[in-house]
Amino acid sequence: MSAKIIDGNALAKQVRSEIATRTSALVAKGIKPGLAVLLVGEDPASQVYVRNKVKACEDVGMFSILERHSADLTEANLLKRIDELNKDPQIHGILVQLPLPKHIDSHRVIEAIAPEKDVDGFHVANAGALMIGAPLFRPCTPYGCMKMLESIDYPIRGARAVVIGASNIVGKPMAMLLLQAGATVTICNSKTKDLTAHTKEADILLVATGKPKMVTADMVKPGAVVIDVGINRLPDGKLCGDVDFDSVKEIAGAITPVPGGVGPMTITMLLLNTLEAAERI
Ligand code: NAD
Repeated sequence: MSAKIIDGNALAKQVRSEIATRTSALVAKGIKPGLAVLLVGEDPASQVYVRNKVKACEDVGMFSILERHSADLTEANLLKRIDELNKDPQIHGILVQLPLPKHIDSHRVIEAIAPEKDVDGFHVANAGALMIGAPLFRPCTPYGCMKMLESIDYPIRGARAVVIGASNIVGKPMAMLLLQAGATVTICNSKTKDLTAHTKEADILLVATGKPKMVTADMVKPGAVVIDVGINRLPDGKLCGDVDFDSVKEIAGAITPVPGGVGPMTITMLLLNTLEAAERI
């Protein structure tokens, strides 16, 4: 039996329309949610990401600015600009596109963003708050994955969840959100022994490794929900996830495709975080 496909584009459209409605209600009260996106350097993938983020803001009626800085911008000047944006009442969310050029310490930059404007949820204050279950912002990708589980009414409480990947931006916060929702969570990484023994136990399998099609059907419990965060470009130019979609969809109960799965939800949750930052004013 083929799995239910969780359509990220359709869900993103629905959530964005709710965001647009809340945004216009806020605008009517004189507050226009504003996002500042800062890009340093000319990385082609980053250029596409920032353009999409700014366009998504405009589409839901938010204010946004996109600042492109040359790759030789000094760390001191970037920190100075962040400080100005921290104080700018038109800006409710600040996003610095990663990766940054090597001469800039990304940790120092993220820590310079005011936690109440840290819509990526990467500041240690927000990461710590997530750990104790009271975050101002949830990191966008894991937050989007939770919305996808919610969209199929998946009973997370008591479920066995396995997260493959332990990065600060996806794997770790994902595990925290699942834990808070009542799942029993295992986090695997590249050193995990007998990965399949873990993944076979998973009612919810979330994959964020950056390894194209590494999860195959023999690693998946029949009926499991499989969420594929990976975005990989194959030599033929096509995009694929970290899950071998064609084989896994035959055994999973539900699965997210790539493209059209988690990706559109990530930007949607950025919009939601920006809206919520403005609603808190
Ligand atoms: P990362 O490189 O920071 O972390 C990868 C993690 O996977 C590490 O913890 C590593 O130990 C683990 N890992 C790698 N190979 C493994 C293996 N064979 N077995 C078990 N664990 C393994 O990556 P990241 O930033 O978390 O991103 C992961 C993937 O998600 C990438 O493909 C990235 O492009 C994608 N991504 C997508 C979105 C989105 O919006 N859809 C957002 C962020 C990242």
